[in-house]
Amino acid sequence: MGAGLGGLAAAVRLAAKGYRVRVLERHATPGGRCGVWESEGFQFDTGPTLLLMTDYLRKVFDDAGRRLEDYLDLRQLDPNYRVYYADGTSLEVTSRINRMLEGVERIEPGVGPRFLRFLAETAKLYTIGLAAFVDRNVHRRRDFFNVKNGLLLLRARAMERLQAMVGRYFKDERLQQAFSFQSLYLGLSPYKSPAIYSLLPYTEVAGGLYFPMGGMHAIPRALARLAGELGVDIEYGVEVSGLERDGTRIAAVRTADGRRLDADIVLVNADLPYAYESLLGERYEGIDRFDFSCSAFLMYLGVDGAYPDLPHHNLIVPGDLRRACDDIFERHQVPADPAFYICNPSKTDPSLAPEGMENIYILVPVPSQDPARPIDWAVEGPRLEAEMLQRLERFGLTDLRRRLVTKRIFTPADFQVQLSATRGEAFGLAHGIDQVGYFRPHNRHAECTNLFFVGQSTHPGCGVPMVLISSRLVVERIVAEQGAVA
Ligand SMILES: Cc1cc2nc3c(=O)[nH]c(=O)nc-3n(C[C@H](O)[C@H](O)[C@H](O)COP(=O)(O)OP(=O)(O)OC[C@H]3O[C@@H](n4cnc5c(N)ncnc54)[C@H](O)[C@@H]3O)c2cc1C
Repeated sequence: MGAGLGGLAAAVRLAAKGYRVRVLERHATPGGRCGVWESEGFQFDTGPTLLLMTDYLRKVFDDAGRRLEDYLDLRQLDPNYRVYYADGTSLEVTSRINRMLEGVERIEPGVGPRFLRFLAETAKLYTIGLAAFVDRNVHRRRDFFNVKNGLLLLRARAMERLQAMVGRYFKDERLQQAFSFQSLYLGLSPYKSPAIYSLLPYTEVAGGLYFPMGGMHAIPRALARLAGELGVDIEYGVEVSGLERDGTRIAAVRTADGRRLDADIVLVNADLPYAYESLLGERYEGIDRFDFSCSAFLMYLGVDGAYPDLPHHNLIVPGDLRRACDDIFERHQVPADPAFYICNPSKTDPSLAPEGMENIYILVPVPSQDPARPIDWAVEGPRLEAEMLQRLERFGLTDLRRRLVTKRIFTPADFQVQLSATRGEAFGLAHGIDQVGYFRPHNRHAECTNLFFVGQSTHPGCGVPMVLISSRLVVERIVAEQGAVA
């Protein structure tokens, strides 16, 4: 159920193992959060824009006996992105180590050797973190809580605060920000995050950032094509309306168009809290105690003309990043001076916009809905849109309002309605240390032995590489528990 990246990759892997797979997807296109919006000749990716850790994408194709290159044209970006600070300075983050060293030295003279040591330490965290906690099933207590893992965490100081960790390497606040803001990718404040997530800037610098020609949506399209070749039957525009439980099994899946489909195994890619409540009619135990990630206010802007100095990926850091983060995560309000991200993918692939024009994507991190004090996005949305357009013009996107050919706004209220996100969150359940690994909802229902979960609400969590890993882990578990197909 669901043709998001996790659902599609799991369908590919199951089909490659000989399972007969049918995918039911409520939308007309694959991809879920990795969706697409087309208007006036512009093509916008609606969700993910940064492609990291491409080995995990390649592995999906390898596992099906295919070559990624036959399905996707991935290009490495250089620079990865540019960070702009309120004082007018900027930093280009790149995987070319000599240029990276020049950049950090310009901001903090003498920091070069410490930057290299930061990379070495985060490389360790990456290796340890992935092997012990991410890239394997950890639903059995003993797989997660064992002396070896405890010692690894202690040795790597993975549980200290991210800010304390970056503070040991960088004195200049701008560099501390440049190498810790990435926890926002997980919808987590860099000021509350544990140091283990410093593995994220490491993956960017060491592994590089890639872009699939044709846009990020080329990834779900490629996976859907591969699934089709392996015999998977994908039905679009079909809403699952209920899961029929018979004791410890799901006997059938009900669809909104009135069908009752028998199933031996049911794999849910939709957000887990929604699936429990709306499809099973039960609540995931303890769900009220779970933290949700932050949300995103998104603007897709088709612009006449080009901004020649605007690279593909741009991060704009406000004067007081901590205050902006505390607004989101502590005070549950839209920051008065927010951090934001601008994506200009037609810089890499001009075919995504009409000739001489650009498709600009803006992401402003905002709070997910606090049930006690929900934000009325019907009011807040237009206010923030107007404010952001002015802010973008001040930033350097001259005459933006006058040059708009098309636009679309997507708010946390849309995440609730269109993606069944319980609190309108963009990145699923939060990724604090008490909500990952064994503590995250497991990839199989506790009682229904044929009901499995894949995607960002289950282990290991949010992000394109993570949901691809989740597809491998759940398929391993299905094969182990339900038996391989002869
Ligand atoms: C704005 C934004 C920016 C992001 N940026 C990045 C990034 O730059 N890099 C990165 O790696 N990650 C990024 N992410 C995270 C990444 O996109 C997600 O973690 C990932 O795409 C989630 O995939 P998924 O398989 O969990 O499911 P989803 O994409 O949530 O898909 C679930 C699918 O289930 C379907 N479904 C739900 N209910 C039903 C039903 N009742 N019947 C039938 N179908 C149903 C939905 O329509 C959907 O297609 C971003 C996310 C967002 C929202």
